Amino acid sequence: LMQLAIPLNFIGFVYREIRQGLTDIEHMFDLLDVPPEIVDKPDAKPLVMDNGSIRFDDVHFRYDENRPILKGISFEVPYGKTVAVVGPSGAGKSTISRLLFRFYDIQEGAITVNGQNLRDITQKSLRAAVGMVPQDTVLFNDTIAYNIRYGRMDATDEEVMEAAELAQIADFIRSLPDGLNTMVGERGLKLSGGEKQRVAIARTILKAPPILILDEATSALDSATESEIQSALDYVSKGRTTLVIAHRLSTVIGADEIIVLKDGVIAERGTHNSLLDENGLYKAMWDRQREAQETEERLKDFQEHD
Ligand code: ATP
Repeated sequence: LMQLAIPLNFIGFVYREIRQGLTDIEHMFDLLDVPPEIVDKPDAKPLVMDNGSIRFDDVHFRYDENRPILKGISFEVPYGKTVAVVGPSGAGKSTISRLLFRFYDIQEGAITVNGQNLRDITQKSLRAAVGMVPQDTVLFNDTIAYNIRYGRMDATDEEVMEAAELAQIADFIRSLPDGLNTMVGERGLKLSGGEKQRVAIARTILKAPPILILDEATSALDSATESEIQSALDYVSKGRTTLVIAHRLSTVIGADEIIVLKDGVIAERGTHNSLLDENGLYKAMWDRQREAQETEERLKDFQEHD
């Protein structure tokens, strides 16, 4: 009997392990951001773009029944202007960009692009008009040329390099052994966060969408990379209706309007200078970020002189 008990125990152990594994997989699917399928209305029309303004009118949104995320948000991004959304972590900043893509439908209020409600237009035409430079770009296991050309498949090599130039990634590409034909991604050359973001910017420059969402990286970049990326972003957003989702404040200084989101409502709004004068939440966030930056710089000086 003893002899049998061990294997049975072992089988029990394996069984529990497998069960645990299955539960983990179920859990993983819960966590994966798989939005419910949004279906076009039968009479949905393609989006007509001429002035490309974006409006949120008293938008209410929740992912789950009893946890409202946005509780009546109204703002406008006029044609060609830039509006930045800032606020504490979890305030709902990225949610606003997902709603603009209509990955979810809102419960109350309206989102319109160029006067057309998102519910009345085809998703295909909406997504063709909106370009996104995401926080974290996933690269295809293909050449760097393919990864940039994905923005517009019929672009020539010259156009790809021109976009790379504007996105400040051309020198990097020229330094690679196979130039544009270098394989990147999981099975090729791994790019840094800043390099991946510049590939995404080059891709967006090729796509040339009338509406742009910049979901700025949370990760800290060194200041040289950050200013290169900033000038690439300034280029790509010039003359485009742009919504910046800012997790850091350094990139929002030049925005036409800054919206401070907190607890599902707009707590403050204005330009960088008017918000500093208000001496409220934005000012507090700004001061805190400055302090953190200064500490970091002092630490770096200290290490360099060591
Ligand atoms: P951060 O600056 O940390 O990126 P954020 O302001 O962009 O934060 P969101 O990503 O918009 O915040 O999330 C807002 C809230 O909605 C968070 O509390 C988050 O947990 C919740 N949330 C986000 N996505 C989902 C989802 N798919 N299902 C349920 N809740 C979600």
